Amino acid sequence: MAVIGFIGLGHMGGPMSANLVKAGHTVRGYDLVPAALSAVADSGVTTVDSIAEAVSGVEAVITMLPSGKHLLDAYDEVLPNAESGALLIDCSTVDVADARAAHERAQEAGFGSIDAPVSGGTAGAEAGTLTFMVGGAEDDFHRAESVLEPMARKVIHCGGPGNGQVTKMCNNLILGASMVAVSEAFVLGERLGLSHQALYDVASISTGQCWALTTNCPVPDLVETSRANHDYEPGFAAALMLKDLNLAVSAAEQSGTDTAIGRLATDLYRRFNEEGGGGQDFGAIIKSIRERSGS
Ligand code: NAD
Repeated sequence: MAVIGFIGLGHMGGPMSANLVKAGHTVRGYDLVPAALSAVADSGVTTVDSIAEAVSGVEAVITMLPSGKHLLDAYDEVLPNAESGALLIDCSTVDVADARAAHERAQEAGFGSIDAPVSGGTAGAEAGTLTFMVGGAEDDFHRAESVLEPMARKVIHCGGPGNGQVTKMCNNLILGASMVAVSEAFVLGERLGLSHQALYDVASISTGQCWALTTNCPVPDLVETSRANHDYEPGFAAALMLKDLNLAVSAAEQSGTDTAIGRLATDLYRRFNEEGGGGQDFGAIIKSIRERSGS
């Protein structure tokens, strides 16, 4: 069992750190916000007052932070204070360029590192069923597996440094675009006199089948797991979907990739966020489509 430093104990980091403790690891947790620290204390995480304290003498450092800027700022304190030989595991969703900059800085300071963003949301973080998409060297990936395992359903090596983030943004480009398409299809069907059930019964076993339809259907009462059944309480918030689509579109621009549908989906989620929908599940985009259709 390992001693692990955990930085960023928010919606995701809180339950993830608790699952590490449940598996028998010793976890030293740090967050800027005192409420986040007290929330994990009951689960057996040892809370500390600084990043330096969280990382000194540990075998692995996990970061679960809002953005690349937060990550690189945290590394200013992680790198001088961590034990040589510690493995740095960043699970945040960040820009590919920031992820690669973090790898470079870790390597220059003599640390192995992986980027390991996750899919599965807060429910997956609580249940220990996240999918980890890992970028980094093969041996660092293998060293990380036993640390990630108590939080994971699947841990997949996606290639070299930054490729975890590339995978995450490509996956969420598919997810954002497909949620918009599923929502538009339901609204079109409604307006032309088609029942939700009939569309679902056909599309869910036909070529329209996708996660946005069969797991998180934007229409209530068709799929048990959908956040639409809970008044669109997230789940995966529309603000986070916008964050991930922005990362994908900006990477597309930087690499000269034509992602027309990605840009459109980003515009729609930006509009929905500006309308105040950011705190709702991303499936609530259907409300904005209905409204603009005069329904
Ligand atoms: P969150 O805002 O709830 O948690 C982030 C935490 O980091 C906060 O508690 C904040 O106080 C802390 N923090 C910021 N700077 C810090 C610093 N320098 N030192 C210590 N703590 C610091 O966010 P979250 O929902 O837990 O998401 C974390 C990451 O996971 C994000 O990158 C997000 O995109 C990604 N993610 C979230 C979800 C989800 O459903 N919430 C799903 C997949 C991926």
